[in-house]
Amino acid sequence: MNILLTGGAGYIGSHTTVVLSQAGHNVVILDNFCNSQKSVLDRLQSILGKALPYVEADVLDAAAVEKALRDYQIEAVIHFAGLKAVGESVENPLKYYANNVQGSISVLQAMKAVGIKTFVFSSSATVYGDPQYLPYDEKHPTKPMNPYGWTKLQVEEILHDVSISDPQWKVACLRYFNPVGAHESGLIGENPSGIPNNLMPFVARVATGHLPKLNVFGNDYDTKDGTGERDYIHVMDLAEGHMAALTYLENHPGWHAINLGTGIPVSVLDLVGAFEKVIGREIPKAFAARRTGDLPVYYAQPERAKALLNWAAKRSLDEIAASTWKWQQTTVKTER
Ligand code: NAD
Ligand code: UDP
Repeated sequence: MNILLTGGAGYIGSHTTVVLSQAGHNVVILDNFCNSQKSVLDRLQSILGKALPYVEADVLDAAAVEKALRDYQIEAVIHFAGLKAVGESVENPLKYYANNVQGSISVLQAMKAVGIKTFVFSSSATVYGDPQYLPYDEKHPTKPMNPYGWTKLQVEEILHDVSISDPQWKVACLRYFNPVGAHESGLIGENPSGIPNNLMPFVARVATGHLPKLNVFGNDYDTKDGTGERDYIHVMDLAEGHMAALTYLENHPGWHAINLGTGIPVSVLDLVGAFEKVIGREIPKAFAARRTGDLPVYYAQPERAKALLNWAAKRSLDEIAASTWKWQQTTVKTER
């Protein structure tokens, strides 16, 4: 299948590129590189043994997206392109609604013009908001707690309306939990610019000595060790989930919201402990106040993905830590 990956040079998109290409699909990346580097294309080439076509464009440019769809005879789109920093979305909501919501509309308009109706969307567990119960299943009420989350929910709603207007549309809204880890080659992974907000990249930078210590935000939650719990999913498992979703959509038109998570809550100390085991030394850390806006715990009910997609996360926390460390040692260290 010929598949366009908007935001394909980013963290999750690059891993999905590898999975789809190695399964024999023809992947075309469309990215404006606002949060990724072109060097990822060379590293993808090293992993895949061939160069991939890419288009440097903004998804807001519907004409450029339409041209890419026609030039490469695209049959399905996976829409990763989006901004994802929760704090920035609170400070600058218009930037987020423009890029994430208008950007999605632009891609859908281009698809409509060309007659392509298969769409996989990068949604997020953040659409659920304050847990009424856990684990979150897909029937859990949706009420995001910040503009970033609202952009995801609004695009889900738009997709729902589109799929009702034309029953030939095949749409999967994949609600990711916490993606972490890297490809086993150590050539692609997550390397945010500036000081990371998320736990895993922060821990990695403490491990490499670029940051002095980890602040553990809260140790008085009602969790097994008092620290916050999340559902950390290996990015390669997540990437494989996208391929499973595309296969499912072949015979299942309509709109589908599906959690991609492990179903296992993991505490901050669990994750740090796995990392310490890999590097063979302690990560300097200190307990600090709770971070404003943090939920104590959330994790996925992953049964729907298993039932519909025949997909389940299979990689362990140890593999997550080991692949993150290999990425740091192989690539981040040399590119910094
Ligand atoms: P990322 O920032 O690494 O990748 C996003 C890519 O999209 C980048 O390469 C960026 O340059 C590109 N991009 C952004 N805006 C664009 C635009 N207007 N036009 C063209 N390209 C554009 O992020 P990621 O972690 O790979 O996330 C991918 C998607 O998954 C995002 O939509 C994100 O909101 C969603 N998501 C991520 C997480 C997470 O924790 N990483 C969790 C849930 C959902
Ligand atoms: N966390 C932490 N120190 C950090 C960053 C995160 O203790 O420097 C904690 C955070 O409070 C939460 C967990 O790690 O309990 C995951 O945070 P992250 O930002 O990675 O994911 P999110 O909260 O967005 O799910």
